[in-house]
Amino acid sequence: MRIGKLWSVGLAVVLALGVAARAQGTGEHRGPTSGAQSGRSANGGGELRVYFVDVEGGQSTLFVAPTGESLLVDTGSPDPRNPAAPRDASRIAAVCKLAGVTKIDNLVVTHYHSDHVGGLPQLVGMVPVGRFIDHGVNRETAEVQGGASTIAGYEAYQKVLADGHAEHLTVKPGDVLPVKAMRVEVVSGDGEVISKPLAAGGEQNPYCAASPLKEAEGTENDRSLGLAITFGKLRILDLGDLTWNKERPLMCPVDKLGKVDVYIVSHHGLVNSGSPALVDAIAPRVAIEDNGPRKGGAPATFETIEGSSRLKDLWQLHTAEGSDAKHNVAESRIANLPGPDAGNYLKLTARMDGSLAVTNGRTGETVEYPAP
Ligand SMILES: [Zn+2]
Repeated sequence: MRIGKLWSVGLAVVLALGVAARAQGTGEHRGPTSGAQSGRSANGGGELRVYFVDVEGGQSTLFVAPTGESLLVDTGSPDPRNPAAPRDASRIAAVCKLAGVTKIDNLVVTHYHSDHVGGLPQLVGMVPVGRFIDHGVNRETAEVQGGASTIAGYEAYQKVLADGHAEHLTVKPGDVLPVKAMRVEVVSGDGEVISKPLAAGGEQNPYCAASPLKEAEGTENDRSLGLAITFGKLRILDLGDLTWNKERPLMCPVDKLGKVDVYIVSHHGLVNSGSPALVDAIAPRVAIEDNGPRKGGAPATFETIEGSSRLKDLWQLHTAEGSDAKHNVAESRIANLPGPDAGNYLKLTARMDGSLAVTNGRTGETVEYPAP
């Protein structure tokens, strides 16, 4: 037992060092951000940094504002076999460290599936959290496939909330999160969507006819909190795992969102999300997909995104191994290739003038996208 535990701790250290070493290689500590070691140290560059942590087909996305204010969306999966060094929580904690985040100011739980809320109890043992934000009670029952693990994930989260060390906020569509450095509007939650368009939306959506409804899912995915984030001129959309059918009331007949610069690909790129009614209307310039080697990254989703009118690049956390070369992006745009998994992240650097950059944590290469 003891040797196993020591080995686990060692693995955690190696993972953390690996992330840090790659960050050094990417120039992470360059320029005015070089002193960013404390939780709220300012980033003189005025850049919003967004880290896409590799949680193997779950979601965990860390936003760090120029002021140091932090927002984490989801926490990956639980790792009960490795309590001393749980995979996803350790990777998130390592990315927090490299980003200079010692406390997560806001932690959004988009929904209660285990690949989103599962890592939360283990993560709070590693990085303190100021405020938890969610859509309210779990409504998924044990009768649904995977329902038992959803209930377990929700109950484990309730235990963390009951500890009372953090604030807890339940939000609904139309609410604006109490985040100072950027505007974070809730566009979906608990199965509902905003009743009125955002400032950037309001046009009739010509892509609705190309998105016939699919079979209703009736799981927690439908209830995902969706966030529209505005940072200066730059807009980022993260709908969690919101499903194809739930995109309908958000996008049809009127597009309530409007165009975005960055689309955090819904639902890991699975076919039951990401309809043309959504993707063609928001017309992202850059899309980032938190897929796993064998989860998400579906060919049909790939074609919809690649076919959208303003797209410069799609980035993937993993090669989608169930797809062919034609339906994966170039290796330079993929953080983790087939083979032993290194847990490489992708990093978005967003600026208020609308320009942005994406860094591949595997290669250290950064691609710049000028303001439109
Ligand atoms: Zn998911």
